[in-house]
Amino acid sequence: MAEEYGIYIGGEWVESSAEELFDVVNPANGQTLARFPQGTREDVQRALEAAKAAFPQWKSTPPAKRGEVLLRAGQILREKKDDLGKLLARENGKVLAEARGEVQEAIDFFEYIAGEGRRLLGETVATELPDKFAMTVRVPVGIAGLITPWNFPIAIPSWKIGAAAVSGCTAVFKPATGTPILGAKLVSVLEEAGLPPGVLNMVTGAGSVVGDEIINSPLIRVISFTGGVDTGRVVYGCGASRLARVGLELGGKNPIILMDDADQDLALEGVLFAAFGTAGQRCTACSRVIIHKKIYDEFLDDLVEETEALKVGDPLDPSVDVGPVKGREQEEKILRYIEIGKEEGARLRCGGEKLTGNGYDLGTFIRPTIFEGKPEMRIAKEEIFGPVLTILEAKNYQEAVEIANDVEYGLSSSLYTQNVNLAFRAIQDIEAGITYINAPTIGAEVQLPFGGVKSTGTGAREAGTTAIEEFTEIKSVYVDYSGRLQKAQIEE
Ligand code: NAD
Repeated sequence: MAEEYGIYIGGEWVESSAEELFDVVNPANGQTLARFPQGTREDVQRALEAAKAAFPQWKSTPPAKRGEVLLRAGQILREKKDDLGKLLARENGKVLAEARGEVQEAIDFFEYIAGEGRRLLGETVATELPDKFAMTVRVPVGIAGLITPWNFPIAIPSWKIGAAAVSGCTAVFKPATGTPILGAKLVSVLEEAGLPPGVLNMVTGAGSVVGDEIINSPLIRVISFTGGVDTGRVVYGCGASRLARVGLELGGKNPIILMDDADQDLALEGVLFAAFGTAGQRCTACSRVIIHKKIYDEFLDDLVEETEALKVGDPLDPSVDVGPVKGREQEEKILRYIEIGKEEGARLRCGGEKLTGNGYDLGTFIRPTIFEGKPEMRIAKEEIFGPVLTILEAKNYQEAVEIANDVEYGLSSSLYTQNVNLAFRAIQDIEAGITYINAPTIGAEVQLPFGGVKSTGTGAREAGTTAIEEFTEIKSVYVDYSGRLQKAQIEE
């Protein structure tokens, strides 16, 4: 039986004013896992009122106390990791090892960000006048609107909720309609951990209704959004029109560059994991491999052979390497791009079709696909967000970097080489928020900032030491203990 959920407002699961529910479907077999309300604008208004009512108390709660709640949330997640990992694999379709890894990422982040409650660092700064003291303190921005995608249904909400909460913000959270179950489970974990009513509220439903109401509300002072570039533009525009703070984490077209001295076995493993892990549906997934001409044929032949050997199937089966893509819409979009690649004259080396028969038709499975392409092709420039990899040839390092940078995006990137000078040069030359050396484009750790350049995003980096920047304002404070009027900058 598919479980039916409500919306979470003011510390309680309540009924939505919506008449309609939507189904959350397992992409491996088409079964309905749960039903959620198709939330309304009125639901969002109720959530906003609850967040507003909770703000003064939460803002004045000592940050260390706020952090303690988050630490407990991390501990509860740890206890529930097995169950949540399995549920995530069913809801999202990523294979169990990766699903468990995602839950671990949420645990890691809560444990990390809890400590921020004992820092929230400001600065003391010298002043130009005697008997005067100057410092900066951090204050919460206000009510946050948190909007998340379906591809990381617990990790991304954890980043946003954890950073907002430790900073003293209250929030209205809208998970993606494809994967709200893990979002709802996370909300319940935070409730169990002792998060006071109203600090976090969750409304499910369409982006065009629930999301739209959140981003347009004058009560929302900061919008933290992760999703596609087109939606990101709309969100940015709304925030700009009323001068709200906006953090955007958007798409990618992440390259791995292989130099002629690369450890090819290591690179092969890395490319397979980065391109086809989570069926290529990670924002940091590798979708372009740029290979030095000297090793091009040799490496590509091996890569095609290994890709053809990947087992595609039920994400709960531990022998499976690649799960389904997330639903019919994703499937159609990816298959369309495969057609575009063929029409553009790219050479299809493997895959290129959906899997049928043997129960595959119940779900949405696409064979891992490799094209040999040219840098100007759409399949080499646009985010496909599926198990489709484009291979490009470069005559030297310079050309490889030019190809890597010649896209709209700049999230993750990687270079395989034994040449330490080149490695350090690439760190400077590649336009991206993240660069790996001799490691694939995926695998970010929570204690480092995460985000990208160019159309990949704007605003403060999530996670790491910068996580709180999105949700705190810096206030400058001057304390004059001279007992007389002192005038800065003015000569007496
Ligand atoms: P999407 O943009 O379709 O949806 C993201 C969220 O926005 C969903 O909750 C959706 O309901 C909501 N939304 C849709 N229209 C809206 C509107 N008009 N107003 C407000 N909210 C609205 O993205 P998706 O398909 O769920 O996710 C895939 C995309 O996310 C990919 O482009 C991927 O690269 C990106 N992504 C980026 C990162 C990153 O950190 N850079 C991480 C994960 C995913």
